Amino acid sequence: MANFMRIADSLCLDYINTRIFERGLEVEHVQNFGDLLQFLLESSMITPAVAGDLGRNWPNTEQNRALRSALTFRDQLREMAESLSRNQPLDGTTLLEINELLAQQRGYTSVTKNGTAYELRKHRNIEQPEDLLLPLAESAASLLCEGDRTLVKKCGNPNCNLFFYDTTRNHTRRWCSMETCGNRMKVNSYLQRKRQTGNGL
Ligand SMILES: [Zn+2]
Repeated sequence: MANFMRIADSLCLDYINTRIFERGLEVEHVQNFGDLLQFLLESSMITPAVAGDLGRNWPNTEQNRALRSALTFRDQLREMAESLSRNQPLDGTTLLEINELLAQQRGYTSVTKNGTAYELRKHRNIEQPEDLLLPLAESAASLLCEGDRTLVKKCGNPNCNLFFYDTTRNHTRRWCSMETCGNRMKVNSYLQRKRQTGNGL
């Protein structure tokens, strides 16, 4: 079973959503290097063989460095998403960090036949901790350059900190999830209306 939420329709936003508010408390879902590997594995950014190899063979110092870098980068991505969701320009340091990660990429791309179609497939060489963050930097870059930035939204529940990329046809998505925040906010506004009209006494 998957450990991480997939509600954002964007890899980098799903990654930001690994630190969430639950019942008013902030909950960290990337607590250690294993959690980071698990997130990348569930996102198909690394294979089970690579995850197993890094978990077993990378020294603790490298694992800790990867975790620290990943959490710092997540803070920067969160600032990026906050700015985009408010239609504000980006903080320059986020762009710098994205570009630094992109500049370090190692590996190659190949063309693979998939049925009657052809697919580009990336082969990444993961030699140092920062290499693990490359897919997240690429996702942020494609959101900025190829996506519609106005569709980066924060959940309409003021007590919720989840972001998503609104892929609905009319771009009317307001909630991280209808089942949780959507219903809660609807019930709240219903109760408020009832109070205002005095029918709820
Ligand atoms: Zn929400």
